[in-house]
Amino acid sequence: MTSTTATKEDSRTAALRAAVKELMPRAKSDLAQLVSFKSVADPRQFPVEECRQAAQWVADAFAAEGLTDAGLHETPDGSMAVVARSKAPAGAPTVMLYCHYDVQPPLDDAAWKTPVWTLTERDGRWYGRGAADCKGNIVMHLTALRALRKVLGDAFPVGLTLVSEGSEEQGTGGLEEFVPGNLELLRADTLLICDCGNFEVGVPTFTQTLRGNVNVVVTVETLAGSMHSGMFGGPAPDALAAMIQLLSTLRDAHGNTTVSGLPNSQVWEGHDYPVEQFRSDAGVLDGVDLLGSGKVADMLWARPAVTVLGMDVPPVVGSAAAIQPKTRARLNLRIPPGIKPDQALKALTAHLEANTPWHAKVTVETEATGSPFVGSTSGPARQAMSEAMEAAYGRPATTEGQGGSIPLCNVFADTYPQSEIMLMGVEEPKCLIHAPNESVDPSEIENMALSVALFLASYAE
Ligand SMILES: [Zn+2]
Repeated sequence: MTSTTATKEDSRTAALRAAVKELMPRAKSDLAQLVSFKSVADPRQFPVEECRQAAQWVADAFAAEGLTDAGLHETPDGSMAVVARSKAPAGAPTVMLYCHYDVQPPLDDAAWKTPVWTLTERDGRWYGRGAADCKGNIVMHLTALRALRKVLGDAFPVGLTLVSEGSEEQGTGGLEEFVPGNLELLRADTLLICDCGNFEVGVPTFTQTLRGNVNVVVTVETLAGSMHSGMFGGPAPDALAAMIQLLSTLRDAHGNTTVSGLPNSQVWEGHDYPVEQFRSDAGVLDGVDLLGSGKVADMLWARPAVTVLGMDVPPVVGSAAAIQPKTRARLNLRIPPGIKPDQALKALTAHLEANTPWHAKVTVETEATGSPFVGSTSGPARQAMSEAMEAAYGRPATTEGQGGSIPLCNVFADTYPQSEIMLMGVEEPKCLIHAPNESVDPSEIENMALSVALFLASYAE
């Protein structure tokens, strides 16, 4: 690189930074508008019009920035996806900007310290349902596009496909089912899934992996019916005792998940999750140990983790002096990238069958499985985005995982196997997404908007 190009790039970065900063009051008023729509995609809780108005607002806002064919598309679950596009200049790649306009319900209105549907500033943060998840990312995208137009002129350097989902928080899969039938409408070389966030404010972070999962229901049976614990207790095989013994084989003394045949010593290579921060985030009681022999990030993002979600046992109040003849437990096994759901299901089923004591009758039913996900780690888009984030935040980008899953990411990966997919956004942990008192840090909107603007400008080259 010659010194002239270096200076030119620096001045473009400076111009985009100034443009984004200048656009922040507009971002705030746009976000206030968006938050005022009670766009919970459940007609039993809120009128459908709230979602329709939010969708139309999003379509109009991106149309105003020069995207064409901005419209609402009905998806199989009845929700509307907003799609708007801008054709790629010859030879330039196309980038998908993903976000969703539906939100979680307020949950507990009384627990909110500010009005749920009115964007309210407090101590430098902006409060309101959806302020971060995911309406903050919608205005982040808008701000990036506005800054680009201000600095580079009306024609975007890359093709754009804006996709704003309408039922993400419901898990009803409308967009997931819509994607395969609308390959060309949504096609992009790089997908920015902006429904995540940095590890903490000011630390640019890619969400690199998502865990997959396997859910099963295991049933243990030992007797024809319940029997008096005094008259029969001792030799009579107790189904509940058998289940307790069986479930205890799924963890070792340190709390590591120990499903025979599944590795459990993987290591997370990216950002570490400090112990004290995790203890506080998870509300771990004083003096109680964290589980596992790895670091927090290993246990959370790199290794399998089993949880007993439910169990059929008599509640304490009302329980009788009786031996249980039958019991069920519902298990959730989270699996990191590198383990396939089929492999995990097979291993878990075999483990449960092999470790049931006393020849008790055991059956394992599969409830659901989902694949783990790995975002782009090394392509040209990833490279450009790393540089953009570093320029925006003044420090190199890092990586974290996410314990949960986003099935849509797997659909995109299967549909566009050649495309690079990256997960990021304005939803850092202080946002308290899905909880009462959700908020967003405006500096994250500003820095992420600058990152996306810088990325779109440089990726084209
Ligand atoms: Zn979200």
